[in-house]
Amino acid sequence: MKIIVQKYGGTSVGTTERIKAVAQRIKGYIDNGYSVVVIVSAMGKSTDELVRLAGEITAQPSKREMDMLLSTGEQISIALLAMALHEAGLTAVSYTGSQIRMVTDGNFTNAKIHSISSEKIHDALRSNNVVIVAGFQGVDRDDNITTLGRGGSDTSAVAIAAALGVRDCEIYTDVDGVYTADPRIVARTRKLREISYEEMLELARLGAGVLHSRSVEFAKKYDVRLHVRSSFSSEEGTIVTSREEMMEKFVISGVTAKSDEAKVTIRDIVDRPGVASKLFGCLGENKIYVNMIVQSTGHDGKASISFTVKKDDLARAKELCGGLKGDLGGTSVESKEDIAIVSAVGVGMLSSYGVAGRMFEVLSRENVNIEMISTSEIGISCVIDSKYAELAVKIIHKAFLEENQ
Ligand code: ADP
Ligand code: ASP
Ligand code: MG
Repeated sequence: MKIIVQKYGGTSVGTTERIKAVAQRIKGYIDNGYSVVVIVSAMGKSTDELVRLAGEITAQPSKREMDMLLSTGEQISIALLAMALHEAGLTAVSYTGSQIRMVTDGNFTNAKIHSISSEKIHDALRSNNVVIVAGFQGVDRDDNITTLGRGGSDTSAVAIAAALGVRDCEIYTDVDGVYTADPRIVARTRKLREISYEEMLELARLGAGVLHSRSVEFAKKYDVRLHVRSSFSSEEGTIVTSREEMMEKFVISGVTAKSDEAKVTIRDIVDRPGVASKLFGCLGENKIYVNMIVQSTGHDGKASISFTVKKDDLARAKELCGGLKGDLGGTSVESKEDIAIVSAVGVGMLSSYGVAGRMFEVLSRENVNIEMISTSEIGISCVIDSKYAELAVKIIHKAFLEENQ
């Protein structure tokens, strides 16, 4: 049995016409001898609409009930796609996450997948069904419905491909591949024919919304080759694969920005061993994810520490820092919400020099102040004022990916 796993995002199933078009595309694969497993997102922007409804009731919805609510979006699209496939003369069956035992932890709104039972999918495929699975949702060990975080259908798809032992997973979306920057921001962006798992993971983690970052982690771990492509055309998209299989390597493959984090600074804490461990240990125990950390060089036995957290966690992080301030000898806890993290990513950085300097120079030429810097083997990120986010992406893209080409 030649199995292919396909995922269709919100825009791709945004209307009943689009759902019929998806059914025709799937039929094409069936006619070519494939067995197809399809993962779908909620129609269009319907998940946003559900979030908005919850907001009309309460500013702090229970996370369990939020998952109960948001999971309904995908349940609509799987049933409609099954009907469209029936109309196209195919046998098809739809399942929710819980029906295929997509078991997750109990971390509502951002659950992690523990296991998937592939038996039901295999049985349905053997009976010649197109198997349709609701993306984004799972079930915890107590049978509560969970969701995997916004954009999580990509992760459902890759996890299902991995559970079935399928090598190829197509991600159908509203762009025809992964570009060197978000085409909505940069006009002269270029489509990448291929990109390594490492670069794609870094880009997704740093804001490139085209793939959910955990889907790339899964793909790398289980050797699933991703093909990101458009559901509006038959053009080849971008292959996300291992570095060894790549033909071309660039110094920078992509530029991205994200603005969902905030910066916290604790000033004048005592400069001695154990201080950072106390602070970040406490944040970790409270399940607060810290991204960038910068400590200033101490003088007079004092130092400052700045770090970034998700905006949703800012209030709690400040409260915890306030509680610890006395213990750490700090004088004040400050925060800034209007920040953006702008990043350049590329495996070519491993063998090039001067990339960071050039990126800082480009920003300084436009008078963009860099508030924090962090680097990885294949990425450089700068915290800047959020009002410069788009400008920064444009000018860094121009410097590295438009000039000299
Ligand atoms: P879907 O609903 O299909 O999952 P998303 O909206 O989650 O679609 O992701 C597709 C969008 O990702 C594109 O419309 C594009 O604006 C955005 N995007 C951000 N960065 C990139 C990039 N580097 N390459 C391509 N698309 C990107
Ligand atoms: N429908 C969910 C969302 O909008 C999941 C997804 O589309 O991947 O975030
Ligand atoms: Mg998406």
